[in-house]
Amino acid sequence: MPELPEVETIVKGLRRELTGDVISQAVVLRDASIGHPSCRDFARFLPGHKIERVKRRGKYVLIELSDKASLVVHLKMSGRLLLKKQKSKPDRFLRVSLKLESGRELHFEDMRVFGRLWFFTSKQNPNELIKGLKTMGVEPLEDLNLEYLKAKLQKKTAPIKNVIMDQTIIAGVGNIYADESLFMAGIKPARKAGSLKDKEIKALIESIIKVLSTAIKAGGSSMKDYTDLDGVNGNYMSESWVYRRTNEKCRKCKSEIERIKIAGRSTHFCPSCQK
Ligand SMILES: [Zn+2]
Repeated sequence: MPELPEVETIVKGLRRELTGDVISQAVVLRDASIGHPSCRDFARFLPGHKIERVKRRGKYVLIELSDKASLVVHLKMSGRLLLKKQKSKPDRFLRVSLKLESGRELHFEDMRVFGRLWFFTSKQNPNELIKGLKTMGVEPLEDLNLEYLKAKLQKKTAPIKNVIMDQTIIAGVGNIYADESLFMAGIKPARKAGSLKDKEIKALIESIIKVLSTAIKAGGSSMKDYTDLDGVNGNYMSESWVYRRTNEKCRKCKSEIERIKIAGRSTHFCPSCQK
């Protein structure tokens, strides 16, 4: 699933390419891809709106439109946003196509159909109406600090990895960047969250910020189903510390990277660098 750095890369592309353009037509090919309103109303109300601002919150893309309307996108497992500058044969997983006055088309492709698009008018606040946005935790690159995270970890017996992937605690961190941050902070992913000392929580916060910033600079990771707007893969994975490096040598100590399952998710760590 695309995580914060991948969504940030897409948002930067949308902001650069689409600000000022106007949606002239919305074609819905798969009803399940529309979260709000009905598919018919989505296709009826969206055209004519100008794209004014593009932002990110956690893993959500927030597009502010003219008349204070908004378009929200969550890519979930396999959703992709692609900007088509020339006529091309539609992808078999094309679910929604937004035609723009500039002649280009913004395609939402989604093999597994978990991704969603929502359209809201000025009277509807997406932060209230989409549960994931309403309950979203802090933005790690803006508001994550020791006091906040310490309070969230207190007395928790769940593995620390689960807690940093919990979107109601920290926005945008998923499987890849949780493993990478825990390696950089020297903390075993299965450690009970409540057992972390202040020094370790501080190191973890610094690592999360560093890992996410590095991945944004690399244009995200080259995961399956993720590309930027132009269909180009990210570069982060080639430099990962532990993620998808099972049985390879640790880049710091040469021990073999191990893989375990935590809450059903593949988890990678170095048994000697992480305590
Ligand atoms: Zn190591």
